[in-house]
Amino acid sequence: MRTVYLNGEYLPENEARVSIFDRGFLMADGVYEVTSVLGGKLIDFDGHAVRLQRSLDALDMANPISTEDLLAVHRELVQRNDIDEGMIYLQITRGAPEDRDFVFPDPDQTPPTIVLFTQSKPGLAANPVAQKGLKVISIEDIRWGRRDIKTVQLLYPSMGKMMAKKAGADDAWMTENGFVTEGTSNNAYIVKDGKIITRALSNDILHGITRAAVLRFAAEAQMEVEERNFTIEEAKTADEAFITSASTFVMPVVQIDGVPLGGGVPGRVAPRLREIYLEESLKKAI
Ligand code: PMP
Repeated sequence: MRTVYLNGEYLPENEARVSIFDRGFLMADGVYEVTSVLGGKLIDFDGHAVRLQRSLDALDMANPISTEDLLAVHRELVQRNDIDEGMIYLQITRGAPEDRDFVFPDPDQTPPTIVLFTQSKPGLAANPVAQKGLKVISIEDIRWGRRDIKTVQLLYPSMGKMMAKKAGADDAWMTENGFVTEGTSNNAYIVKDGKIITRALSNDILHGITRAAVLRFAAEAQMEVEERNFTIEEAKTADEAFITSASTFVMPVVQIDGVPLGGGVPGRVAPRLREIYLEESLKKAI
């Protein structure tokens, strides 16, 4: 049984209880982060801590924990649950007021709820899916306008994964006004003539921590990167495509809406970036 963290306490998972009035439960009034663990160490903890604060600030939500303490909790959970490869999930909500109300509760009377738990995923780095690549479908992006805030409103991304599954694919890329925004739980990229193309940062997409690292590593490796919009039609004519996220790192995409890319097998750029990302991130893991 896992040990989880809830509001300052380490508890067995079946003893951790949150109120039915919690605004995370009633209104999706909460934010989250997912940090990967490799070799028992945290990948890009600082990046996730910075984005967490940014999400909280954007929603005018109090942060119940210092970055230093947050790091200590992450490490304690890794240790107590003996995590070698996996993830740490963190969620902060606006807490549980005495009644349901649209108005935000006074943070002095209603402290935020903070929860962390581990997910053990042996073989995360050596994931065989990376050799095969993913099939994606395209779906309309009907999410709200602040996708840069990492909120727990994951119903549409969840529906997107189900639409993909039903279509015999692995995931979905979302499009808005004809242009790809991002994957249901990852950032989206295409590669054409050696150039890596991905949508620029704005409120339309999540500012991926893995995205930032991968683009930095790509530039360091003298790869050309262009941050601009691209359509699904352009993506279908690309040489390669891939996604990035904290839990999948870099994952090749080999099919879009049934159209195979590069003969339906991973090309050269995505696997190379995955290799560099894993190597460099491990070096800096804490
Ligand atoms: N976009 C969306 C919509 C996501 O949910 C995620 C992962 N949470 C990402 C992008 C990738 O972000 P990161 O690299 O920080 O995991």
